[in-house]
Amino acid sequence: MEKGLRCSGAVPYGYLASKEDKGEWVIDEEAAAVVRRIFQMVMDGQSVNGIARTLRAEQIPIPSEHWKRIGCPVRASSYRDPYAWSATTLGYILKRPEYLGRKVLGKTICENYKTKSTRRTALEEQFVFEGAVPAIIDEETWHNVQRLRETTRRTPKRSSAPNRLTGLLYCADCGAKLTHHNSLVQGKYIDDAFTCSRYRGIVQECTIHYVPTQKLEAAILSAIQRISWYVRNNEQEFVQRVREASSLRQEEAVKDCRKQIVQARKRHADLDGLVKKLYEANATGKLPDKHFSRLLAEYDEEQATLEASMTEWQKMIDNWNADRVRMTEFIDLAKRYTDFSELTTPMLNEFIEKIVVHEGSGRGKQRRQRLDFYFKFIGAFEVPADVVTPMEQEAERRQQEEQAEKEEHSKALAQARYEKRKQERREFTARKRADLLTTEEQAEEERRLERNRAYQKKQRDKKKATQPEKPRKRSLEELAKLDRAGANLTPEEAGRLAAYKQRKAEAVKRCREKQKAAQPPKPQQRTLKELAECAEAGLPLTPEEAERLEAHRNRKKEALQDLKARAETDPAAAAELAQQRAQQSEAVKKSRQKMYADAAAGDPEAQARYERFLATRRENYHRKKQAEAKAAQAS
Ligand SMILES: [Zn+2]
Repeated sequence: MEKGLRCSGAVPYGYLASKEDKGEWVIDEEAAAVVRRIFQMVMDGQSVNGIARTLRAEQIPIPSEHWKRIGCPVRASSYRDPYAWSATTLGYILKRPEYLGRKVLGKTICENYKTKSTRRTALEEQFVFEGAVPAIIDEETWHNVQRLRETTRRTPKRSSAPNRLTGLLYCADCGAKLTHHNSLVQGKYIDDAFTCSRYRGIVQECTIHYVPTQKLEAAILSAIQRISWYVRNNEQEFVQRVREASSLRQEEAVKDCRKQIVQARKRHADLDGLVKKLYEANATGKLPDKHFSRLLAEYDEEQATLEASMTEWQKMIDNWNADRVRMTEFIDLAKRYTDFSELTTPMLNEFIEKIVVHEGSGRGKQRRQRLDFYFKFIGAFEVPADVVTPMEQEAERRQQEEQAEKEEHSKALAQARYEKRKQERREFTARKRADLLTTEEQAEEERRLERNRAYQKKQRDKKKATQPEKPRKRSLEELAKLDRAGANLTPEEAGRLAAYKQRKAEAVKRCREKQKAAQPPKPQQRTLKELAECAEAGLPLTPEEAERLEAHRNRKKEALQDLKARAETDPAAAAELAQQRAQQSEAVKKSRQKMYADAAAGDPEAQARYERFLATRRENYHRKKQAEAKAAQAS
């Protein structure tokens, strides 16, 4: 009154009656902001009680207090706490169609004028005026909120909020909603999933349609990601595809509407006939006035309803065009979201109209389950299968990495196990060799060896059974014997023997080399030839060398004597002796010639050797002379 505004309970919170025209409402911005906030909080997944607590904590005045503060008369003036929002108040606000811009009249009806008792009217009895008031909430949000509130959500015990997916999921086979359930086991929620509400139903049976919440949320997120990316990157293509899909659906719907119009027209004509008959019956007095007016009213009402429906269907046929699918709104929505790292409640409520869940098949990793996504504004839409978004590529890469890591890890584990077993075996063998096994261990080892032998025998027998009988191979020993006896060997046998001989020769060689390497290195021995030269040149020799040379000369001398002895009887030996002598004199001659030549060429060493040779010859000559003289004196 203070501001000259007429406010009454009839004007909902968020509006005020206009100053100019009291029948007209204007937006009360302060209250409207609160209303919008309340709707948004529901969209964000908050419970009504949670919203009430938040508003109270923020000291937002309840509607009555708000009206009181701005100077409007308040019906319910007795309240204790001006911030005590109740679930009932919030419930009324969230249900009001006025916020959509509709004025609804006749919500209550006076049944008895004496007692003034009223009752709530049914929806059909109310009068709705579209666009009669300015809207506070957009249509999409309002309907979303109705959907979220319509579905009764069973709050799991000790869980603060009902599941946000409730009401979005429908069974593909029976069309019922899916219900959420989980079990609280030792403070942990397990088996958090949705199932068809008609599963094990009393009236109607359906299969389980089990879908785990976590998997479902992941699938929804990736579906939203996928379609948003597609819209942002292939807008033209998207628009075209949606148009095609919608025109198909449109045709169906239009067909349906036409059929209904035809039926309605027929019924309308029938009613005309009935009304005519009714008048005739009344006029002739066959039908009392009381019944006449009741029946007439009924027929009239039915005809009016039919006319209204026909107009509605005709309007639908006229309006069915591409605009019916509100693509631009979806495109705006897709562009609005940029962060898809997690599925938020507003994202879920804004994008998803419903999800149809098919029955799954397979177990574990092989489990497959089809989900049909219906998006807001555009309905069912599937991004072409060949489109791969960067997010999907990234996910694929991550998955591969994880897989590789897992494999690497299990490989490392297997290697460690193998090493451990090997180590244990090694220790066991060491103990076995040292005779340290307990009797049980020994018995076990015996059994193991027995098992091994049996297994190997079995394997051998098996192999033998599968292979054709081969002619028996001759052993290497036999082959060597045959070879020595000069028998003919097959090429294969000869090759085998040769290979064996080579292997053996190599082994012997290796063995000798090993032995040699094991012995201390010997001082380099001078060859007999060098020793002879030294002796000839009068150079000193070690006693060992002198002995060696002496032994060699003795051997030679003995051999020569032996040959000489044999030559007296054996002509072959005589020939050999003659040959040896000739060779020797030839060698001596050659060596002397070389010495002369070297000395003449001016080699000092050769000259010295020549000098020594001459001296020795002189000495030998004198020694011979003296010996002859002595012999002559003696005789
Ligand atoms: Zn079902």
